[in-house]
Amino acid sequence: MNEGWLSGKVVLITGGGTGIGRAVVERFVEEGAQVGVLDRSEEAIAELRALPGANVSATQGDVRSLDDHKRAVADTVERFGRLDVLVTVAGIFDYFVSLESLEDDRIDAAFAEMFDINVKGSLLAVKAALPELSKTHGNVVLTISNAGFLPGGGGPLYTGSKFAVRGLLSQLSFELAPHIRVNAVAPGGTVTQLRGMEAMGSGDQRLVDMPDLAGLIRQTNPLQVASEPADHAWAYVYLASKERTQSVTGCVIHSDGGLQSRGL
Ligand code: NAD
Repeated sequence: MNEGWLSGKVVLITGGGTGIGRAVVERFVEEGAQVGVLDRSEEAIAELRALPGANVSATQGDVRSLDDHKRAVADTVERFGRLDVLVTVAGIFDYFVSLESLEDDRIDAAFAEMFDINVKGSLLAVKAALPELSKTHGNVVLTISNAGFLPGGGGPLYTGSKFAVRGLLSQLSFELAPHIRVNAVAPGGTVTQLRGMEAMGSGDQRLVDMPDLAGLIRQTNPLQVASEPADHAWAYVYLASKERTQSVTGCVIHSDGGLQSRGL
């Protein structure tokens, strides 16, 4: 039996297919958790299902759907018997599209896609997990971004969506107390495959394909780090660990090389 920080805990992670979510899956398993994943990527789901060991269950679905979340919760509970922690990581980016350059005929679809995935996705995940988290007095860890605190980390769609996730953090940590804690991690620039918006034709664009992405990220933060997904994973572990953070709710860990603290 692994006596890690999450030993015996059962966790559901949305967007656990690649990038930061995948690193959280791997770290959580290392720490003794059994993990369910909801992700839309067929390829990532197949990869997760092929992992050795029996600690990961993967459900393919879209975070815009409450039914898909309910299916992922049911799959996780059926496989592992309970749910202690929900981590929401699924998200998309706007590749800095400014309001001026957003064409009139795309604005409705672009707004809907960004807010449905980044904001409604987190709301629906909590809604679907609530009955199980109530039984275990569990907790939730949301994913924000430096863009949820400062301008310039995206265009108005992405920045607006991440400020809205901060709103969910504030309201849900208040509303779900005293039995369920709700916290968040706000990563800064990270080398991942973060995708754009179908509505803007950037659905297949990946952050990692930007020329000298790591160099660009380093220039933006005081620590001059270009984070890899695994650099954020311990922040999620810490907030998820009831034994270590049982008095902590409504809190954000800024894993961003000092961007937020300097107000850059
Ligand atoms: P990523 O693309 O590697 O991971 C996102 C995951 O979410 C993928 O597995 C993807 O398939 C899944 N996903 C996307 N839309 C979905 C949907 N509709 N339904 C189900 N699954 C869906 O990118 P990442 O950089 O690891 O992003 C993870 C989170 O971190 C996002 O919320 C992002 O906003 C946030 N973030 C990323 C950075 C960065 O620089 N990469 C910085 C700050 C915050």
